[in-house]
Amino acid sequence: MKQINLISDTITKPTKDMLDYMYAAEVGDDVFAEDPTVNRLQEKVAQMFGKEAALYCPSGTMTNQIAIKVNTQPLDEMICDHYSHVYQYETGGYAFNSGVAVNLIRGEYGKITAHQVEAAIKPVYDWLPITKLVVLENSCNKGGGSYYTIDEIKPIKQVCDTNNLTLHLDGARLFNVLVETGENPKDIGAQFETISICISKGLGAPVGSLLIGPQDKIREARRFRKVMGGGMRQAGYLAAACEYALENNITRLKQDNDRAKILGAEVKELPYIQSVFPVHTNIVIFELGNGLQSGEVVEKLKSKGINCAAFGATMIRFVTHMHIGDQEVNEVIQIMKSLY
Ligand SMILES: *Cc1c(COP(=O)(O)O)cnc(C)c1O
Repeated sequence: MKQINLISDTITKPTKDMLDYMYAAEVGDDVFAEDPTVNRLQEKVAQMFGKEAALYCPSGTMTNQIAIKVNTQPLDEMICDHYSHVYQYETGGYAFNSGVAVNLIRGEYGKITAHQVEAAIKPVYDWLPITKLVVLENSCNKGGGSYYTIDEIKPIKQVCDTNNLTLHLDGARLFNVLVETGENPKDIGAQFETISICISKGLGAPVGSLLIGPQDKIREARRFRKVMGGGMRQAGYLAAACEYALENNITRLKQDNDRAKILGAEVKELPYIQSVFPVHTNIVIFELGNGLQSGEVVEKLKSKGINCAAFGATMIRFVTHMHIGDQEVNEVIQIMKSLY
């Protein structure tokens, strides 16, 4: 039976061309900052976002965790939406690695407003954590791939500047946003102190994320990457895959977004579907109706060759990516139609 994997865009595998490019990489020891391919990737990404420096790390969890660490002191607090990856899916690392508290905001599909941020800032008392960091996620995974435009980010940045708060972007799927809005990465760079991007999701590299920011913070970030065990040696083979992905795989993300929109529109019409989150990028989250539980529906889809993720008791997530073409989209629609 043919398998169609909609679990995540992290399942994407290197293509032959990417593997050829990786095979030809020039490498050195990156713990000594002597891997020419890693250095070139870091410079390329820093430049792309108009920032001073960047650091190649094994995962987006690590780049986010290092960002929280370099932007806070213990007993500080970070503000984020309750759907945020940094809160939901990083094992509580903000507390473990940085000793900070979290101040959760209930946004709309994972998006918070400047007004909400302003209202959440704590006054300074001995018995309160000091509000220091704001984390935005763009696109927002648990919000169904929703996104902020730069015009929506600017007022949040303004509140941060006025109140001495630092702004970090979890941009794991930022390029899925930029192919929709046509915005320039440099204009994104100007809004944030630090930015994390993942190359191992829709962009198709096997491993790697980058933390982007000012020179002094990235210098400190190198130390935290080391203590977390993320200092790699001949990492240039992996960095080469990221370089290849950034050169060749950005514009095609628009196809993933478009296919997700088609899937979302079709799923919405099914009698056993209660609702679908608005589809903006490559994620489709839907709520089951008719008393159906996500566990049983995920199992039933699996028996028909479709892999996807349960998102809570009654919701399911589909993620489109480079291994899902028009034919796969059509097959998923046909199977969904025949399911109940
Ligand atoms: C995937 C993801 C990350 C990082 O994930 P890793 O698997 O650690 O690379 C961070 N934030 C968001 C929103 C993500 O979707």
